Amino acid sequence: MTEQIVIIGSGPAAHTAGIYAARAQRNPILFEGEMAGGVAAGGQLTTTTDVENFPGFPHGIGGPELMMAMREQSERCGTTIYTETVTFIDLSVRPFVVTTPYRTLSTQSVIIATGATAKRLGIQGETTFWQKGISACAVCDGALPMFRGKPLVVIGGGDSACEEASFLMKYASSVTMVVRKNQLRASKVMQDRVLQNPNITIEWESDVIAANGDSLLQSVTLQQPNGQKTIPVSGLFYAIGHVPNTDFLNNQLPLDESGYILTEAGSTRTSVPGVFACGDVQDRHYRQAITAAGSGCMAALDADAYLSH
Ligand code: FAD
Ligand code: NDP
Repeated sequence: MTEQIVIIGSGPAAHTAGIYAARAQRNPILFEGEMAGGVAAGGQLTTTTDVENFPGFPHGIGGPELMMAMREQSERCGTTIYTETVTFIDLSVRPFVVTTPYRTLSTQSVIIATGATAKRLGIQGETTFWQKGISACAVCDGALPMFRGKPLVVIGGGDSACEEASFLMKYASSVTMVVRKNQLRASKVMQDRVLQNPNITIEWESDVIAANGDSLLQSVTLQQPNGQKTIPVSGLFYAIGHVPNTDFLNNQLPLDESGYILTEAGSTRTSVPGVFACGDVQDRHYRQAITAAGSGCMAALDADAYLSH
């Protein structure tokens, strides 16, 4: 039997695609992964606490709770969910063939919603203080009470780091950027924004080597050319890039230079007809739950139109 739509992933993009595809009576199969890329089924939001910017929850909602609700909704609408990681899809044949450690099935269309994983450094204290002062998303976590009026650090020198440093200044008493080189990688306009802000300082040629504290993060230790120094901080934000989860594609789809799947502007269509990509795996810029969900809706509508024609 050939399926109509297989969805790969388990975040807001995948489950929104599931809801729409099921309601379009396409009987979607969704592979949610089994600790795929080291992240639990449910995706990146399972690694955070309160989500305060997803519409519909005026008092915020826990990330894992939100993802449980999305999963329940997509299943209730008719999505069949397997807790299996897709290890390979063969896009060279029609129908496409999808492989997991437990099964192989064929499908007329595929929606890829495997997300991206924020890079971590693996420094001393990282595991202890993850989400207790260390975050990989300033837009998501910056407004939390624990960071308000406090000194904060952003690691990285790219556009994300500059954008996050500027964003965090809305809440912080000061922001320090820790940059490993003696220059920023960011675009000129983003560089100017941080260099002209008197409340943002930059520690050049520095690496954060340890996060220290008690129950919450209290300081970080920097390695600099002339030795180490420890600075008091309440928040440490990683902005050192993301890795889109595309290994299982085995280079069958064109990716941009950072590894994001390329889609046609204004749609979720990839270069292979019948294969669609949505959420963070194809979004190097916005990377929010609501934008992932929106593009999941687009992918299901695009897949439905493809199957109809
Ligand atoms: P993801 O959430 O990345 O989920 C994809 C999942 O698919 C993977 O995690 C994995 O479980 C599964 N998968 C991967 N590969 C395979 C495979 N081969 N087979 C099967 N399954 C696979 N955004 C907000 O809007 N508000 C917030 O408050 C917020 N807080 C955040 C806090 C943190 C700590 C982080 C890291 C991110 C946060 N974000 C927040 C960003 C948000 O989580 C992402 O934009 C969103 O989750 C992206 O959704 P997605 O559906 O593209 O995929
Ligand atoms: P980038 O890859 O551009 O930058 C990553 C930064 O993190 C670099 O400064 C890099 O340093 C640093 N870094 C990487 N690994 C480490 C490490 N192990 N230790 C310390 N520092 C490290 O990623 P971004 O997320 O900033 O941007 C991704 C893309 O998205 C870019 O194309 C960017 O232009 C775009 N973007 C655009 C925005 C905008 O226009 N408003 C906003 C956000 C992103 P080094 O320079 O030394 O390699």
